[in-house]
Amino acid sequence: MTTPPSLYQLAVAGVQRLVPYVPGKPIEELQRELGLDRVIKLASNENPLGPSKKALAAMQKVLPELALYPDGSGFNLKNALAKKFSVEPTQITLGNGSNEILELVARAFLAPGLNAVFSQHAFAVYPIVVQAAGAKSVVAPAVNYGHDLQAFRESVNAETRVVFIANPNNPTGTLLSQSHLENFIKSLPVTCVCVIDEAYYEFVRRKDEQETIDWLGQCPNLIIARTFSKAYGLAGLRIGYCFSSPEMADILNRVRQPFNNNSLALAAAEAALDDGEHLQNTIKNNTLGMKQLTEGFSNLGLNWIPSAGNFVSVDLSEPAYPVYEGLLRKGVIVRPVANYDMPNHLRISIGTPEENNLFLQALTDCLNNV
Ligand SMILES: *Cc1c(COP(=O)(O)O)cnc(C)c1O
Repeated sequence: MTTPPSLYQLAVAGVQRLVPYVPGKPIEELQRELGLDRVIKLASNENPLGPSKKALAAMQKVLPELALYPDGSGFNLKNALAKKFSVEPTQITLGNGSNEILELVARAFLAPGLNAVFSQHAFAVYPIVVQAAGAKSVVAPAVNYGHDLQAFRESVNAETRVVFIANPNNPTGTLLSQSHLENFIKSLPVTCVCVIDEAYYEFVRRKDEQETIDWLGQCPNLIIARTFSKAYGLAGLRIGYCFSSPEMADILNRVRQPFNNNSLALAAAEAALDDGEHLQNTIKNNTLGMKQLTEGFSNLGLNWIPSAGNFVSVDLSEPAYPVYEGLLRKGVIVRPVANYDMPNHLRISIGTPEENNLFLQALTDCLNNV
């Protein structure tokens, strides 16, 4: 008698070898584990000011309608986005977080025998969606923790269907110049889809540079992914979107579940988009917090990677995991990034001034005790 295959052997090859994404530790989990009252989480690049009040009010209004399916076409939100960013609604795809956008791209364009290119130290979701589709991940080496577009270009071959570029990148916070990016995108073969992941778009302060959106007209293979999870403070609702050519949006729509965005998320996102004041406060808090944290690192004699996002990765010049654990014991959750090939770094999301201060105190204590 032959032994029946294990359940794991029945899974498709890509899934058999898949290592699940490790999220930041939830506040309640740490409270349960250590019996702590006050826990601060600076681990998932969430908005420390919370969601917009306008978004909360919009959700209240939707509550009585929750027995109905949401608008599967996302008509209102797409129109609001189209108006704000001067694109056509047909150029927009909504996702259950922008993570779903990444997955739709992989589902639509990747399969065994094909590959996707992304950078060393790139966002951990890219290898997962690529592998789940049975395709191969090709990693372009980074330079000084930043994307090396030359290395990307050299990694692209006839089997490359997707290039993923996070700009700014997570967890490094590094930012490519728009002119370099434009040249790169325009140098790609027509067989290659280019995803520019702008999850931190709202935090980027650049002057006199073109917007990625400006290239959509000439680049039918370009996808610009964005999210309401970070600057808009709606991570818990899971809503993101992308801009592309109408043809690309049509293809992504074929693999999208009909009701991938729930009614609360659709209403909240539309309202959040309209709350410019909350966004400005968020950006202001981020600028001040970034200064506070990096000055604190300076005082501790630590180096960090200059970041264009709402987080910063600090170099402890020693394995960071024990310090991460020490911080947990003090009720501070940050993010170890050894799985990003950065074993000596910790990534810290910018918090409120008080949270930043608590973190810096805890870090000082931990480093003095090691
Ligand atoms: C946070 C993040 C995302 C988006 O996450 P969603 O919550 O799924 O929208 C996408 N890309 C990068 C690089 C991120 O850091």
